[in-house]
Amino acid sequence: EVKKKGKNGYQYFSNELVKKLQEKIELEGDLRKAIAKNELLLHYQPQIRTSDNSMVGIEALVRWNHPTKGIISPGVFIPIAEETGLINDIGTWVLREACAQMRQWHDEGGPLIPISVNLSSQQFHQPHLAEYIMSILQETGLEPQYLELEITESMMMDATVSTGILNKLNEHGIRISLDDFGTGYSSLSYLKMFPIHKVKIDRSFIRDITQNNNDKAIVATIIAMAQHLNMEVIAEGIETKDQLDILTDKDCGKIQGYYFSKPLSADDVEEAFFVPGRASNA
Ligand code: C2E
Ligand code: MG
Ligand code: MG
Ligand code: MG
Repeated sequence: EVKKKGKNGYQYFSNELVKKLQEKIELEGDLRKAIAKNELLLHYQPQIRTSDNSMVGIEALVRWNHPTKGIISPGVFIPIAEETGLINDIGTWVLREACAQMRQWHDEGGPLIPISVNLSSQQFHQPHLAEYIMSILQETGLEPQYLELEITESMMMDATVSTGILNKLNEHGIRISLDDFGTGYSSLSYLKMFPIHKVKIDRSFIRDITQNNNDKAIVATIIAMAQHLNMEVIAEGIETKDQLDILTDKDCGKIQGYYFSKPLSADDVEEAFFVPGRASNA
């Protein structure tokens, strides 16, 4: 009877596991075909200068329109893409699509602002990354100063590798932004070693900033640090007026968050931000 109980327990557990594994394998298979089937799309979230509410940048964020499951967020499929090596193909698609879209916006009289593209660590450590990105810029006709690559602190851990990559990108005129700043293994010495144009204060410091004095102090410190190092600074995840007021008070001039705009389709960006007369009251 002990044996039987054990067997039942095992079967139950095993069924659950098998089901999860099957789901994952299915998703992997679907993801493999997603690019060819044109199921990936980009949404774009404006970055706003608070002094005049103008759009000073925009971040490309990938989504997967799955044939049966609907829109899947990058938090779900980027880890699978990284595990399976599909991230390089997806990353290339994202870069090309984002650069082509920004070039088209520039041609259509949209604001001359850079587009931010997230890089995964596998892409970042690709040999010849700079050359490969330059070829995408050439292909799409976007000038290098209008591309901003978002990397995280942990990607820079291998300082000897990263110095080479970042210096090369910088020499080509491509901008570098440190995403999710304050959540990784940050070393302040990296900040002066590397050519970094912008730091993005992570949303986790913003969420409770109206009540939490530690968060307030950390955010004020990051802003002051960026200013001293002549870097731009932007806060992510601003959802309320109260949060915005604190950031304005701490002299953070740029913000990205639902308070101003959720990530939007390209058409919605054009409608909300490009129509003359509406650009200034975004
Ligand atoms: P991230 O680069 O830090 O992007 C910001 C995330 O926060 C986005 O989620 C955005 O929709 C969300 N967000 C923005 N404002 C607010 C706000 O006010 N409140 C809240 N609650 N959330 C806000 P999303 O689009 O789901 O992307 C999640 C993460 O997936 C990104 O974080 C980035 O790390 C990754 N990711 C997205 N697109 C790509 C891509 O093309 N390539 C790679 N490698 N990673 C990507
Ligand atoms: Mg980002
Ligand atoms: Mg972030
Ligand atoms: Mg269009």
